[in-house]
Amino acid sequence: MSSSQLWAMLAARGIQPDSVSGGHPTITPAEIARCLHGLARGPFLMGMVKEVGDVRVLRELEEELDRELDRQEDDFFIEVIVAGCRRRLVGLAVFEAVMPNPRPCSQCHSRGYIYVDYQPRACTECGQTGGRALTSHSRSELACIPWSTWRDKWCERYEAVHTLAVGWHGDALRHLAETISGLLSNPLTPSRLDSAVNKA
Ligand SMILES: [Zn+2]
Repeated sequence: MSSSQLWAMLAARGIQPDSVSGGHPTITPAEIARCLHGLARGPFLMGMVKEVGDVRVLRELEEELDRELDRQEDDFFIEVIVAGCRRRLVGLAVFEAVMPNPRPCSQCHSRGYIYVDYQPRACTECGQTGGRALTSHSRSELACIPWSTWRDKWCERYEAVHTLAVGWHGDALRHLAETISGLLSNPLTPSRLDSAVNKA
């Protein structure tokens, strides 16, 4: 398990990696996938991509986000539907939710740290992520929408779609933290896992 956000949530519940038997968590990607059950389809798929690393569901994730816009009873999204560029916005929103800092950091060359007087220091330019978020210009290029049109009309709508996608990851993390928090103090067994998943 690698998600720093998930560990932060578990730490808030008093669970530290060091407290796990043997000093390392024993939960596997397959067990995380089982812990995601019970979620709505969108958050489940986002959890599968971001926390399990299963990129095979990316297409279904895009399709589910597209359907989610249908479910939003809001003219704001209906206009996006009419304009016909909704799928490109959806694809871009999923991409940025899965990979929030895809541009290389020019200061640390994507390492996340720099050397000052031969000592490693955290890169403040990228906040140690090694990358930077897309610019609004690069978003308009990736969505194949001229910059001025993007700035005046689509930028705000895109932010709303992106917020939905990021919110699904938050839902998945909260569900995982709730399900896993009761399991890490003892070795996992299938029966304990099933019991926790069924309760979640
Ligand atoms: Zn950097």
